[in-house]
Amino acid sequence: MGRSISSGRVTVLGCGGSGGVPLIGNYWGLCDPHNPRNLRTRSSIHIMLDGFFSLQIDTGTDFRAQINRETLTYIDSVFFTHAHSDHVNGIDDLRYMAMITQKIIPVYGHAATIDEIRGRFLYLFEHKEKLYKPLLTSHAWEDNAYNQPQIHATDDINFTFTPIHQIHGNTFSIGYRFGNFAYSTDVSDFPLESLNALKGIDTWLVDCGQYGQDFIEVHPNLERVMEWNDIVGAKRVILTHLPVKADYNAMSASLPNHFEPAHDGQIIEINFAPQS
Ligand SMILES: [Zn+2]
Repeated sequence: MGRSISSGRVTVLGCGGSGGVPLIGNYWGLCDPHNPRNLRTRSSIHIMLDGFFSLQIDTGTDFRAQINRETLTYIDSVFFTHAHSDHVNGIDDLRYMAMITQKIIPVYGHAATIDEIRGRFLYLFEHKEKLYKPLLTSHAWEDNAYNQPQIHATDDINFTFTPIHQIHGNTFSIGYRFGNFAYSTDVSDFPLESLNALKGIDTWLVDCGQYGQDFIEVHPNLERVMEWNDIVGAKRVILTHLPVKADYNAMSASLPNHFEPAHDGQIIEINFAPQS
């Protein structure tokens, strides 16, 4: 087990809904096309831990373009939130990353997520004709890991994180807490234990996919997020997975004080002080 990680730099790779902003066909909805902060790729984050360990959360439809935009040149581990297309469909580009860096990339997630990803992209993990070497390995979190601090350890590093159990419509997803920060995308509700496991964070990057709308069976609206944060108590709430109805400036002007819309390329500094 390598050295303990104490800090991280989160980059919001994308903060758009499943179709991005604008939607295909250059459909901007209520978003001002002239404001670059309304240009949103599919939701994903990257965390550079202590300046060298490169942790990727999800590999969505825009993954390759996001990594190139941020000039990231390697990825050490990938954590998945769930297996929906907007969070997974860029995974094929991990092949090239593994080939260029000559390092097999381990991917992690809930057992059901890993099963589904392997089912759809088995060639990345085992090649039937044995013409190519597998370039990824897959690993499922233990069933009892959820809402409990876990240690992620490699030869180089170790850090504590908490996989958070989340409800996402008629399925579920996994959020991730890292020290004083948590990323909770694609969530329609939380079991109370999950909200309790988020208590003590300073910054919360959280789904608000139904901003300004009433249908909150799959993604929450602002009112829902505010109810959750009454329990979680984050001092800074950054809203992500934003739809074409969420114009950046209009949102910024109307949100409560410690709330803000995310934007692609946004940087959030985090630290790994002991979790409360
Ligand atoms: Zn999504």
